[in-house]
This record gives sequence, C-alpha cells and structure tokens, in this order.
Amino acid sequence: MSDKKVKILDVNVNSITMKQAVEKALGYIKEGGFHSVFTPNPEIIWLSQKDKELKEVLDNADMLLPDGIGVVVASKIKKQPMPERVGGYDFTREMFKQPGISFFLFGAKPGVAELAAENLKKENPNITIAGTRNGYFDEAKDTDEIIQQINDSGADVLIVCLGVPKQERWIYRNRDKLSPSLCIGVGGTLDVIAGVVKRAPDIYIKLNLEWLYRTVKQPSRIKRNWVLFAFILKVLFIDRKNK
Ligand code: UDP
Repeated sequence: MSDKKVKILDVNVNSITMKQAVEKALGYIKEGGFHSVFTPNPEIIWLSQKDKELKEVLDNADMLLPDGIGVVVASKIKKQPMPERVGGYDFTREMFKQPGISFFLFGAKPGVAELAAENLKKENPNITIAGTRNGYFDEAKDTDEIIQQINDSGADVLIVCLGVPKQERWIYRNRDKLSPSLCIGVGGTLDVIAGVVKRAPDIYIKLNLEWLYRTVKQPSRIKRNWVLFAFILKVLFIDRKNK
C-alpha cells in the first residue's frame, strides 16, 4: 500500500492512484475509529498557509487526495510526480460502488441529499444510505443534534458537502464525537449526484480543463483562478527545492 506523500507548500498530499486510495479507505472502515479524508486542490493548500486551523486539519487527516490538476502539476515541478489526479467526486463515486458499506449524506441545500440518495439507489439498488441531512444549520445550536442523527444512523462513511473550508473544519472539530469510521469532505459532490449542478463534459475533464468550464458557467469563480496562478508561481519559484 502506497504511503508516499509529496509536500506541496507544506501540505503532505498522498501520491496515490484511485485504486490505492479506495483500498486505503476500505482499510480505515475495517479498522474502525475515526478517519478523515480530504481532497486538497490548490485553493485549499493556498488557504492553509494563512489559516492555522485549516493547516492543522490537513496535517491531522488520514489521507489527502490530489484533487485538482494544479496539485499534480506542482508534484511534477517538484520532480516527485504523482501517478494521477484523484478527484474527490470520482473517489466518492468509487466508494459508493463498494459493497457492504453504509453512507450518510450530509450537506447541500434542503432536498438535494435526498435526491442524491434516490439517484444512487437507482444506479445501485443494493446501496445503503443510512441517512441524509441538508448543510444549512447553526453550527453552535444544531451540531449536537446533527451528530446524534449521524451516529444513530449507524453509517460507516459520512460524506460531508459544506464547501471549503467549512466541511474540513466541521469534521475536525467534531472528530471525537462522530461514530462513522470514515469522514470525507467533498464540496459540490451531492449537487452533481442529485443533478442540480452539471459536471463538466468529459472532454474538459480529459484535458484537465474542468476549472475552466466551471469558471465559464459561474463567472463568480474567476477570483479562485488567480489563486491557481499564484499557487503554481509559488511552487515554481519558492517551493520547488523544498523536500
Ligand atoms: N453548502 C452547505 N452549507 C453551507 C454552505 C455551502 O451545505 O453553509 C453546500 C452548497 O450548497 C454546495 C456545497 O456546499 O452544495 C459547496 O459546493 P462547491 O461546489 O462550492 O464546493 P467547493 O468548490 O467549495 O468544494
């Protein structure tokens, strides 16, 4: 099992294939206890340079998947090329295909997690969705009740889609209370599975231009692309020689 990591702007990202990532995740479920998996893209890594709590969250994660082509490019610049990009959406999809695991879907607007659950059941009638909960809540007031609902469901895997960095923080802050053996933070995944947001056409994904498609569809994301640019420049000129 590959434990290789590449340090990118001080964040240790797993250098791993999709197959290895799924094997590792299944190992966590078998082992029990608490495990967290996040999918850092350049934006999260950039944010974590200034945000101490987010850095701590990433440092304490069990697995950090190289989401976003920017992370894979950074590994190449550092001459420690990663085998492939392992996107959070694709990883979650692979997890849903694994037999004998139950999932709790937490996040997105009211109704979306339920719609995602219906679609997952249509695709795979044997899947167990132990529960769902939308992602709009008062953190101080509602968190205990949400955790109770998740724990009572008996789910093995908690899928959290609250956006970055809210989902990473929420999982980390509640790590001692959550019963699922694996908690995964994967942004807009439930929106895509529910069909309320369209994923980029395959050609964009193949050419690693998914970020461009999302920017054209949602021009408010343009600021996020400056981060990608700044990230690559920093890796190129400052981080390149840091092992
Ligand atoms: N979201 C949520 N609660 C919040 C803020 C956001 O459940 O308080 C959801 C939102 O509805 C969407 C997801 O989080 O389903 C964020 O999706 P996005 O594609 O923006 O993810 P990111 O790019 O931040 O990973």
